[in-house]
Amino acid sequence: MPIEYHCKACFLSFAVGWEHFFDLSEGYGSVTYLVCSACGTWHRRLHALADRGPPSFTYYDVLLMGYEPRWKVILMKQLRTMFGFNLAEIRQKVANLPLVLATKVSKAGWRDLNPDFVGEVHFEPLPPQPNPVYGPIQSDRLETWSKPLISEAGSYSQLVENDAMDALKQLDVHLENPWSPMSVLGPTKGLNRHFELANQACSHCRVVGALSSDWPENKQTCPACRRDALEFMLGWIT
Ligand SMILES: [Zn+2]
Ligand SMILES: [Zn+2]
Repeated sequence: MPIEYHCKACFLSFAVGWEHFFDLSEGYGSVTYLVCSACGTWHRRLHALADRGPPSFTYYDVLLMGYEPRWKVILMKQLRTMFGFNLAEIRQKVANLPLVLATKVSKAGWRDLNPDFVGEVHFEPLPPQPNPVYGPIQSDRLETWSKPLISEAGSYSQLVENDAMDALKQLDVHLENPWSPMSVLGPTKGLNRHFELANQACSHCRVVGALSSDWPENKQTCPACRRDALEFMLGWIT
């Protein structure tokens, strides 16, 4: 979970640390927030998903078609556990197969839940469901806030929490994405979609190797104004 810092002297804000995304549709699974230790400009690295799955998923209705007579008693117990039927209901169901055991499940998922099921089942495929995460494999991406994030009205998360739209507008975060993509220095050969952070320059001050995902909680020296005024903030919104 990212941790946010705010400078009481120059009002710089930044966050460092990692979090995962809930929406994977862009092909990125998580993000690491970084700060330039030379100037305080906020950056982030988007981590590409290595696997975006198949184009679509097929789910099934699971039908009980029949059973071997020697398993009848066990089958009836299993159906009772599954559905809570009473004996009369079970007899009636078993005499009138097929019986729908489950709908819209994967084969593996159903078998995992019912490993010892003794009946003969048929998996009836349903129309394929598009996989919202499917798409081309992306490369890791480096992005920047472009300049140090300075706000007298509070830290970034305080502004968002308080819905301080005027202050957010001044920071160019109103509805628009404040993050700009940066070109990264290799290697990006073959399947190596990653880059070395140590080779990357800050988009603002151009210092190489100063981008860090760590900021010691007790380090109070602000990377922008160099005064010992940095505060560790709680309440980062995830
Ligand atoms: Zn400062
Ligand atoms: Zn910098």
